[in-house]
Amino acid sequence: MPYVISPWSKRITTTAEPDLEKATALVNQEDGIKIATSTSARRGNIGAGWAILDTQDIRADKPHTSSAILGPREEQNPYVAELFAIAGALEDLGRPHRRRIMILTRNLAALQVVRQPRRQSGQHIIQRIYRTIQDLEMLENKVDLIWITVKCSNALTDEAKKAAKRTTQEGSTPCVRQLQAKSTVINTTMAKAQAMRTLPDGTGAYSKRIDAALPGRHTRRLYDNLSRQEATVLAQLRTGMIRLNAYLYQIRAADSRACPCGHTETPEHFLFRCARWDTLREQMLEQSDTLRGSLSFYLGGRAKTDPAKTWAPSIEAVKATIRYAIATKRLETASGT
Ligand SMILES: [Zn+2]
Repeated sequence: MPYVISPWSKRITTTAEPDLEKATALVNQEDGIKIATSTSARRGNIGAGWAILDTQDIRADKPHTSSAILGPREEQNPYVAELFAIAGALEDLGRPHRRRIMILTRNLAALQVVRQPRRQSGQHIIQRIYRTIQDLEMLENKVDLIWITVKCSNALTDEAKKAAKRTTQEGSTPCVRQLQAKSTVINTTMAKAQAMRTLPDGTGAYSKRIDAALPGRHTRRLYDNLSRQEATVLAQLRTGMIRLNAYLYQIRAADSRACPCGHTETPEHFLFRCARWDTLREQMLEQSDTLRGSLSFYLGGRAKTDPAKTWAPSIEAVKATIRYAIATKRLETASGT
């Protein structure tokens, strides 16, 4: 493949933390979802293991662990096993929303390869890592990959190490677990559009403008009952990374910001104003007499003016918005593909 990931794609945030004290503080931090990865090379085999701890999940008394044997040592680079663990852990996360996700690795080579992918071995795994992280970012999560010194350990890193060791202990049979592309939300249309994978500056600000509510149950509720296609449409509209010309132009995937009608093609224009969709829009506008034109209302977010305590998203309005967006077929056919 000419590129592991497209050259204009945003790189994953990576940090190296060689300081033992700071690294220890990081791994013990009670925040977000923490992942530790590890590998084991013994008895001629290489295996990967990972442990996941959701610090907000009060039911989780210990980390969730998983592991995989990659095969004979001579056929595998050690860092590839680490990449495999990172990919496996990310794919095990499911569909969290608006969480901080911290991947802690002790393999500096793996971190460097993820940071600056070249045409080295394991590139298909790097692509999977990127794809999964991009899916997670569509759900408004923030993912960080952090290298910590080998001297740094806690219960989570110990669990990852144990999981990796299980793969190479006596009696374990090499059966390579194929990681399935259990990618969360983005459909194939989206996956094809490499250009969509760039996070523009200001994306976070756009999302916050739509939804002032803290991450939590409501975003989960919004997405959970949606089909993959519907979830993709909603994620595009809520993040602003959308196949409309204002955004495509920003990432240099379209020649102009203009809609075929002549106005700038922003999400607001597309949802509420473009005359090309007046008929399709009728049902969506029936959802409210007073909130017509409110991105927050139609995308299931809390506007700054909504009362924080009593506010709840209108799932019906969100569904009507999604139906409208799908009916226009605009998000499938915008230029830049
Ligand atoms: Zn228009």
